[in-house]
Amino acid sequence: EHQEKESLYIVLKFATEYFQDILKNHPEGKSIGYSYLRERGFSDAIIQKFELGYSTEAWDGLLKAATEKGYSIDLLEKAGLIILKEEKKYDRFRGRVIFPIHHPSGKPIAFGARMLGSDKKQPKYLNSPETPVYHKSNVLYGMHLAKRPIRQQDNCYLVEGYTDVISLHLCGIENVVASSGTSLTVEQIRLIGRYSKHITVLYDGDPAGLRASLRGIDLILEGGLQARVVVFPDGEDPDSYSRKLGATAFAAYLQQEATDFVVFKTQLLLKEAGKDPLRRTEVAREVVSSIALLQDPMAQAVYIKECSQLLNIDEPVLTAELQKVTRRKA
Ligand code: ATP
Ligand code: MN
Ligand code: MN
Ligand code: MN
Repeated sequence: EHQEKESLYIVLKFATEYFQDILKNHPEGKSIGYSYLRERGFSDAIIQKFELGYSTEAWDGLLKAATEKGYSIDLLEKAGLIILKEEKKYDRFRGRVIFPIHHPSGKPIAFGARMLGSDKKQPKYLNSPETPVYHKSNVLYGMHLAKRPIRQQDNCYLVEGYTDVISLHLCGIENVVASSGTSLTVEQIRLIGRYSKHITVLYDGDPAGLRASLRGIDLILEGGLQARVVVFPDGEDPDSYSRKLGATAFAAYLQQEATDFVVFKTQLLLKEAGKDPLRRTEVAREVVSSIALLQDPMAQAVYIKECSQLLNIDEPVLTAELQKVTRRKA
């Protein structure tokens, strides 16, 4: 089994270099893939740093190159690179820009592949399936480059997409990882927690992103980490907004807008509830349930005080509710 994993790492490395070579040297890679990345504002240096590549429209580009090198069909299939269906076998990724996904050690373990343009008939991104070396729920995109910066800054920016990670690097911000569109998991939070206890969530400025951040952040608090949030204008994500503002103004935006999560949640829910007393009561209960997730009693006390002001509810009432919730969990 160890042997199998080693073989998978080797073929995944080969595929990464193959896709990089196509992007740089193949006519289709240059005219379609490379120009797409350049139009998005990605420099040669950043393309190299993230080992970006391209897969041609052909059904057997990688298949041919890899089998010529002696890699077996079985291994290519196990690596998630080719699909076997009935009597046919063909490349999984075709006509797409390739984002290699790395193990924290820097080894490629999977791929995200973006279509060019916006043909509504296909999914925008295709990803590798689960394999013996790739368990989606344990992986954060960009972690191999972010480990040291997260430790140095004592903070980790968490974004949704591959291109958000890359754009933050272009702004000089390297303590950033992506959950890649899936909901955040306990394993991912634990992984970040090895480097810092502070996470700043930068989800897309749309209703889906907002909902995802509310869900993800309760999990962060439960994991014993501290969460902050930065909200973007509707329709913007960290990639698009950093381009709009430019590196300096974007970095300043992150600094200024970072709001403590419990405060953010309270304000957001209060805004939705308006003046309706019953709904405001529900908000108070919901906020207390988040505070109950905190492992530090001192932090709980501080938040109860803060939220008592925001909610305009006396502290002892909130404290009583907190004790009720905590007892229920015990
Ligand atoms: P781009 O800027 O290239 O349009 P994005 O990262 O802004 O990409 P979103 O639609 O915001 O794209 O999705 C966030 C992340 O979710 C993507 O980076 C990708 O990891 C994942 N994702 C998006 N669409 C799909 C899909 N159809 N299948 C699987 N994963 C997807
Ligand atoms: Mn989105
Ligand atoms: Mn996005
Ligand atoms: Mn985007």
